[in-house]
Amino acid sequence: KGILYIVPTPIGNLEDMTLRAIETLRTVDFIAAEDTRQTKKLLNHFDIHTPLVSYHEHNKQARGEHIIASLLEGKHVALVSDAGTPTISDPGHELVVEALHAQCKVVPLPGANAAVTALTASGLPTNHFYFYGFLSRHKKEKKKELERLKHIKDTLIFYEAPHRLQETLTIMHHIFGNRKMALARELTKKFEQFIRGTIEEVMHWAEHHEVRGEFCLLVEGNHMPDEQSVWWDDLTIVEHVNYYI
Ligand code: SAM
Repeated sequence: KGILYIVPTPIGNLEDMTLRAIETLRTVDFIAAEDTRQTKKLLNHFDIHTPLVSYHEHNKQARGEHIIASLLEGKHVALVSDAGTPTISDPGHELVVEALHAQCKVVPLPGANAAVTALTASGLPTNHFYFYGFLSRHKKEKKKELERLKHIKDTLIFYEAPHRLQETLTIMHHIFGNRKMALARELTKKFEQFIRGTIEEVMHWAEHHEVRGEFCLLVEGNHMPDEQSVWWDDLTIVEHVNYYI
């Protein structure tokens, strides 16, 4: 039987591709990619000529069956998404389950992931954290989700799209109170930014800036006022210009 490799790809900076990821993509029989055009650019950059098939939300059932049949024939397959680690707020989970059901090995490679990258430099506690990913797009459902999360004491990590930032921060402020938080923007890209403050301060900042690009929201867990877990007092905005290709 073939092996299904879960291969992370960069979240913005091509230099974050690991040597093992390059070698794996080169040597498998084919690559299942969320968006083949996006992955083609990556393959061109690293001079990889492995055939590509698409595997995304809308064809996952039919394509999943085809991929499992290939694994059962002994073909090795790599799964990639557009950016970061497949299956983490990206397609792939069903394929992993199907491969395991078919008694095929699933081999994960470590690599780029926005949530953990953001957490490590956020300054928020890292010993326990709760990755939520995307909240619901629907306001009512989003409120319910945040109500459920409000008791958690660990650092909370969310993914969010720029056009939903204001609404999400407003609801968070309402449900969580004015907790400390950090916004990690454009990680690994040329203009990387960390905005640290309270939810209110970040809301205010976002009102006065055009918030573009990709970001993660990191919010402190539920703490009693006398057990502060976060050290900052004022809004700070730190930009770093990365070496970027
Ligand atoms: N699978 C990816 C991973 O492992 O991080 C996540 C994919 S998810 C569809 C995309 C979301 O991840 C974005 O909306 C944003 O919240 C976050 N993200 C991705 N790249 C990022 C970056 N360079 N900087 C900050 N956040 C990023």
